[in-house]
Amino acid sequence: MSVKPNSTPAESLSGKDCTQRPPDIPLGGNNIINEDLGTYIIEIDHISKWFGDKQVLDDVSLFVKKGEFVTILGPSGCGKTTLLRILAGLTMTDKGSVRMNGRDITEIPPHKRPTNTVFQRYALFPHLNVYDNIAFGLKLKKTPQEEIEKQVRRVLKIVGLTDYEERDVESLSGGQQQRVAIARAIVNKPQVLLLDEPLAALDLKMRQDMQMELKQMHKQLGITFIYVTHDQEEALTLSDTIVVMNKGKVQQIGTPTDIYNEPVNPFVADFIGDSNILNGIMKSDFHVQTMYQDFECVDKGFAPDERVDVVIRPEDIYIMQRNDSAQIKGVVQSCIFKGVHYEMAVLTEKGYELLIQDYNAFEAGSEVSLIIKPNDFHVMHKEQNINVLKGVVENSNHVSFLGGSFECLPHGLETGTEVSVRLTDRKIELMDYTDEGGAAGCVSFILYKGNHYQLTVTADNGDEIQVYTNEVWDDGDIVGIRILPEDIIITPLKEKE
Ligand code: ATP
Repeated sequence: MSVKPNSTPAESLSGKDCTQRPPDIPLGGNNIINEDLGTYIIEIDHISKWFGDKQVLDDVSLFVKKGEFVTILGPSGCGKTTLLRILAGLTMTDKGSVRMNGRDITEIPPHKRPTNTVFQRYALFPHLNVYDNIAFGLKLKKTPQEEIEKQVRRVLKIVGLTDYEERDVESLSGGQQQRVAIARAIVNKPQVLLLDEPLAALDLKMRQDMQMELKQMHKQLGITFIYVTHDQEEALTLSDTIVVMNKGKVQQIGTPTDIYNEPVNPFVADFIGDSNILNGIMKSDFHVQTMYQDFECVDKGFAPDERVDVVIRPEDIYIMQRNDSAQIKGVVQSCIFKGVHYEMAVLTEKGYELLIQDYNAFEAGSEVSLIIKPNDFHVMHKEQNINVLKGVVENSNHVSFLGGSFECLPHGLETGTEVSVRLTDRKIELMDYTDEGGAAGCVSFILYKGNHYQLTVTADNGDEIQVYTNEVWDDGDIVGIRILPEDIIITPLKEKE
């Protein structure tokens, strides 16, 4: 997967707009295999998908190189399986196209695609033994008996089940059944193997063993793997390239190290590994202010005083006994042994809680000093136009937006005028939902920012707002949204003609 010709997967799209078509690939759907396209086995081009009025994929583009191990990673419901099913031909896309080997296969049925799928639940035939489960597809294709035997033996060896041919599949362990499912999928020699959370039903130990085996199989087979999971560790372990998705959109594409070390936004930083995510202000190039302090960093090119998000990984904070010259001073709140390292929560003198991982333990109550090196601050732009919404004037002092009706200051605009509504994130109040005025929403994402929470609330009409609060809410909580009239700034979208 790449944006530029001749780039390796390691030269990923991290930090760039990864949904853009690589410049070397011409637009337009012909079925000629372009020599230049030879390295891209899969081109997913601006795909969108709706189920009813719910959009589950939003303009997804992805370019996969031959032989790559690509993992689609994201939380439950983000559209991973739908994307995989579109690749398999099991779900039709509403917009956009899919090409394999340069050929448009958007309308091609599953059995005519060079793909095979392994599902989470093995979907084996319980009445057939291991051999017959694997041979099933080849028999349908009327492959000669001798060839079937050869192929079944070949794949049984690959999945480590030689001598299991006669076994009843129901007598096998979960891991063994999943191996049979993989053998059945690869016996047809697909060019692309699609795997939908294939290890999710296995216990941790077996999952880890199977991960190693899958990686080995991928190497041995030399075919392209597209793997869906919500498990970030699995993605980091297995993949050449990770595609992080959220709410139907690609967030970042990159190698595991890119994604871990250079997350492009707080969602990715939060989803992959542990992070301290803080608000900051970019005072000038190489100079960021966060936690009420100035720090040197390696980032540049931001607007002066631009509000930014600052990510610091817990293992990048150096912790030591209190000394006067330290950058940050604090007191350890908790210290937990995590098997290899200790995980400590430290409350700084300025009132921020930081997560720190270190091989040395500092017990709760210890006064400590902290150091963060310039290249361990990851500074990122905040989303533009946060809390700028569309609304409609209801009357002289009411405006509707977020699917509800809000009192606003008198504005002199006519009823029905379409307006832009700007809200201040710190002035939005959430409360337990009652159906009295305002709007209702659902907490859909929570970030802890060291001394407060930043919540994403999805309103009834599908619009999202960001809310800063000290109150603790849970993902999925249904909330009432209250905003005072003076905190609602409205401007007409179009000047009246
Ligand atoms: P999970 O990890 O839980 O499997 P996912 O990221 O794979 O989640 P999808 O299965 O692609 O997500 O589903 C995305 C959204 O589309 C979900 O809200 C799901 O409920 C919805 N959805 C999926 N299939 C259908 C369908 N056939 N009809 C209606 N809605 C659907």
